[in-house]
Amino acid sequence: MLKTSGYAVKSAESKFEPFEFERRELGAKDVLIEIMYCGVCHSDIHQVHNDWRNSIYPMVPGHEIIGRIKRTGAEAAKFKTGDYAGVGCFVDSCRSCENCRQGVEQFCQVHCAQTYNSTEMDEKTPTFGGYSSQIVVDEDYALRIREQENLAAVAPLLCAGITTYSPLKRFNVRAGQKVGIVGLGGLGHMGVKFAVSMGAEVTVFSTSPSKEQDAKDLGAHNFVVSKEAENMKRLAGQFDFILDTVSAAHDLNGYLNLLALNGVMVIVGIPEKPAEVVAFSLIGNNRSLVGSGIGGIRETQEMLDYCAENNIVSDIEMIPIQKIEEAYERTIKSDVRYRFVIDMQSLLAAEK
Ligand code: NAP
Ligand code: ZN
Ligand code: ZN
Repeated sequence: MLKTSGYAVKSAESKFEPFEFERRELGAKDVLIEIMYCGVCHSDIHQVHNDWRNSIYPMVPGHEIIGRIKRTGAEAAKFKTGDYAGVGCFVDSCRSCENCRQGVEQFCQVHCAQTYNSTEMDEKTPTFGGYSSQIVVDEDYALRIREQENLAAVAPLLCAGITTYSPLKRFNVRAGQKVGIVGLGGLGHMGVKFAVSMGAEVTVFSTSPSKEQDAKDLGAHNFVVSKEAENMKRLAGQFDFILDTVSAAHDLNGYLNLLALNGVMVIVGIPEKPAEVVAFSLIGNNRSLVGSGIGGIRETQEMLDYCAENNIVSDIEMIPIQKIEEAYERTIKSDVRYRFVIDMQSLLAAEK
């Protein structure tokens, strides 16, 4: 077994503390990744706090992992030692069910082994995530990462990137369309970058007036303070597509009413409490309200390659692992510009 250090919480109420645990010895198709950077997703915060009532403790969060291949299993051929690799929200699935065969392993009908707060395919062994020194993963579930200067800023693509890229592709967002992005956080700012790169006219809906200049710098064409009812009324019936990334309870009807004929609103944010949808909000203009969950391995690789070709990375604030509590507090206050990324060197430094 491989001795690994990380940071864990022991319950929904406790603070992060150093945590030692073991990763499995490498199987034939496994790779050992030395973790360099791990993004801090709001899903980490929801799960640490047991917002979704499914938390398993001790929990080592982290599913936006970038690292270097340290060792490869006897039959592993996808990477060589020293290559960069990424791990996203899941580390295994059955590979043979209908959904796995279609490349949407995140919806495996047997068991999707999520990177943390989950179990391996035996449905017993707990999984531990990227707030740690290293991870062992089957090579099929590791992503190729091209060498580039700002690798830390690539880490958030593994969740925030794919979660926003996937629905924009699925609904064929393109030039000439009006797209709204609701919430300018980790997911939201990636949604803006992708929608702009696909040629859409992008409007950011935000509760934080102070983010207007940032939204414009990210390429958005318009910025709307969503708390002001007049702003929302003025834009009724104008949007082809809206991506809702908000992490806390909020009114959906106000946004549905912004959709034009056959407009689609995609929910990716996962508030703790359910939302109420007024039937008329959907019936007018034949609107659709749909959800989207991360993305499969093939599409995640496509997104990473798209980002490399289009010079897209995340806007990040790098922190040492010791500042994780502060990063959570600031993220909850919508005060993150626009993704915290943990420099895993800080973990090693603390050990010495
Ligand atoms: P984040 O960085 O905290 O961004 C969320 C943004 O939502 C905030 O920056 C803020 O933007 C807005 N917001 C926060 N509280 C609000 C409130 N009370 N009312 C209105 N707006 C509010 O979080 P994230 O990492 O992007 O994640 C966003 C959500 O997506 C989380 O719930 C997360 O669990 C979920 N998620 C889902 C998937 C999936 O597969 N579907 C994948 C990853 C994450 P403004 O300041 O601009 O208003
Ligand atoms: Zn995430
Ligand atoms: Zn499956």
